[in-house]
Amino acid sequence: MKTKKKFSPAEIQALKKADQDHYFHPTSSIWVLQEKGAKIIAKGKGCKVWDVEGKEYYDATAALWYSSVGHCRPELTQTAVDQLEQLESYHSFNEFANVPAIQLAEKVSKMVPVKDARIFFTNSGSESNDTIFKMVRFYWFLKNKDSKDYIITRNRAYHGVSCGAVCATRLPGFHEGFEPRLPGFAHIELPYCYQCPWGKKVESCNLECALALEEKITELGKDKVAAFIAEPIVGTGGIIIPPPGYFEKIRQICTDNEVLFIADEVINAFGRTGKMFGIEHWEGVVPDLMTMAKGITSGYVQLGAVALSGEIFDTLKQREKFLHGFTYSGHPLACAVGLRNLEIIEDEDLPGNSEKMGRLLKEKILALNLDVIGDVRGKGLMVGVELVKNKETKEKHDPLLAPSVVDAAYEMGLITRPLIGDILQFSPPMVITESQIDDIVKLLEAAIAKALKDRE
Ligand code: PMP
Repeated sequence: MKTKKKFSPAEIQALKKADQDHYFHPTSSIWVLQEKGAKIIAKGKGCKVWDVEGKEYYDATAALWYSSVGHCRPELTQTAVDQLEQLESYHSFNEFANVPAIQLAEKVSKMVPVKDARIFFTNSGSESNDTIFKMVRFYWFLKNKDSKDYIITRNRAYHGVSCGAVCATRLPGFHEGFEPRLPGFAHIELPYCYQCPWGKKVESCNLECALALEEKITELGKDKVAAFIAEPIVGTGGIIIPPPGYFEKIRQICTDNEVLFIADEVINAFGRTGKMFGIEHWEGVVPDLMTMAKGITSGYVQLGAVALSGEIFDTLKQREKFLHGFTYSGHPLACAVGLRNLEIIEDEDLPGNSEKMGRLLKEKILALNLDVIGDVRGKGLMVGVELVKNKETKEKHDPLLAPSVVDAAYEMGLITRPLIGDILQFSPPMVITESQIDDIVKLLEAAIAKALKDRE
């Protein structure tokens, strides 16, 4: 059946049945799908989407954090059509290239805060992280330090689900039943200031969270550690912002111990946090490598990227080939759309709007002054609302409250998501306006009231 604008009740029923009979959804509840059927989204525009029934929703998550410039922008449709007419696809293996891939590599290399950056393209965040893990190990191998193979990651990290990337992911449920994992991964605690794992307050903080990296490197032996990877601002793990000074200290520890520092900017990058890159909130901190995806094309076409420093590239050059690449690395359609998407982000100062609207969003949610809202935090349009039973003690709420709020919100026309630890995700498209923020906050208030009533 061709996708069309209106669906009859019989067609909708048939679609739901076909979904239940044939479609295996990624990261979804198989049981809920069997019981209730899928939420089928059929149309999008700006900050809104519509389901097959024609019901309208605010997309307060920007799909999976990626719809930066908003849904269905004609400029991007036109760019895609132009590129498909010119050259639908050609690979980049065996010394081939295509025009958009070269142009996007040049553009991204000039934007990223990585020294003399080179850009390698992938199709996703997981592929970018897999690529980077191989890159850093190959780098140390070529430097005759091949014992340096450990990647240190942090609790509550999400770096993807492919066999390599999932080893760096540290969220419940992602490992059980999938063992054995790859060797060479270790982890440390992360800076979660709302409930500091070291029991510290701002006044007594000595950046124990950053020093934990030094302790781990000492424990493993610095001749064993290849790299440290972190999301500058944690997404799926619950919108967690390290304290000032954290990444400066991390950078120093990495430099002192010859450990490469990787910033996973798959969610952060291209303006979502109010700056073009998340790591830029820690002034002067320069990662050795960076991974990107999502906002690079606003999700119009799937694309991931890795930025590596000139020094790392120069080391890799000692070997004729880095035998790694994907059939669709540097796909011209994705790169052409990515290029135009980044131009829109710059021309419309979407990082600036993200900063401004994110601040308003946090202020307005806090002003609801609800007992169940323990913390509202974020940078730019990466905002998390942590639900608690008791604001003073920060006692956890009944774990079903967050999913109930999400369900109630969906009924009312608002899409949000429960993140790990009773936290609601708010990351609308970066083109959002103040009146749309007001609508979202009103819907959130009503959804919380309904969920609390339903759970009485
Ligand atoms: N890194 C981070 C920080 C992410 O949030 C994600 C996905 N949400 C990934 C990597 C993996 O990206 P993908 O789903 O495109 O493989």
